[in-house]
Amino acid sequence: MGYGRRKSNKIGTTLLFLLLAIVFGGCAGFLAYKLPEKVSALKVAKEAVTTFNAEQVALEEELNTHKLELEAVETEVQNKKAQLEKEIAAHPSVNVSDDTNKFAYLTFDDGPSVNTVKILDFLKANNIKATFFVLGKNNQDEIYKRIVNEGHTLAIHSNTHEYDKIYRSVDTFMTDITDLSKSLEKITGVKPTIMRFPGGSNNTISHKYGGTSIMDQIIPAVNNAGFTYFDWNVDSSDASANRQDKNVIVNSVLNGSKGKDEAVILMHDAPAKTTTVDALPQIVEGLRQQGFSFRAITGETEQVKFK
Ligand SMILES: [Zn+2]
Repeated sequence: MGYGRRKSNKIGTTLLFLLLAIVFGGCAGFLAYKLPEKVSALKVAKEAVTTFNAEQVALEEELNTHKLELEAVETEVQNKKAQLEKEIAAHPSVNVSDDTNKFAYLTFDDGPSVNTVKILDFLKANNIKATFFVLGKNNQDEIYKRIVNEGHTLAIHSNTHEYDKIYRSVDTFMTDITDLSKSLEKITGVKPTIMRFPGGSNNTISHKYGGTSIMDQIIPAVNNAGFTYFDWNVDSSDASANRQDKNVIVNSVLNGSKGKDEAVILMHDAPAKTTTVDALPQIVEGLRQQGFSFRAITGETEQVKFK
């Protein structure tokens, strides 16, 4: 009996060991099978991280290189700009474009008349300012006012335009233009400061009435009275005939203005000067093609004078 019991105990222990061996063996086998797979997956992941880091470093290096290049370009631009500014400062008189500084001054003597109204209408439609050297005339207040209100320069020519009276002496001349100036100021509210001598500052007709030195006496008196006189450097030739041919007027103005930066153009708006009105559209078109823009004469305008 005793022997039999011990034998069965031994069999139980053996079975237990066997069972444990199977369990541990299974686990070990499973681990031995799975671990290398895990390890190699980890290795791949680690390699990927290493590659990623290396790529990031390379990109950062490239970015820094570009930053340096950009800084170099910016420095170069700054240096060039400073150099150009220096050069511009050293040459203040250099004009970028000649055309922006070409000015034509359309001037009309001996009005107002019905032609003045037509000229004002044309100038208004074409957005052009001009200068009117007027005479003293009754019942023309509306035209004097219109000249001022539409932005043109209302300038003195002569109250009477009678050479034998005005050029007799300094006093007779000054009385003539002062009367006109006062009258125009009363009508328009604006005191005229620009004037033009009948016949121009170098006329010789005056010699017959006031002697050969009369203009040399009158000019300082006019300046002292606060007037700035203007002659002209382009003659439309519209006074060379009672009714000058329209094409002659156009060609005289366009040829006379060629090569000038400042063209002060003599024209007339007396009652007979209808062809001057007719010539205006072609004159304006031709001058614009030459690069001129139009201005009215003011105290700021560079004085054009014969003497
Ligand atoms: Zn005149």
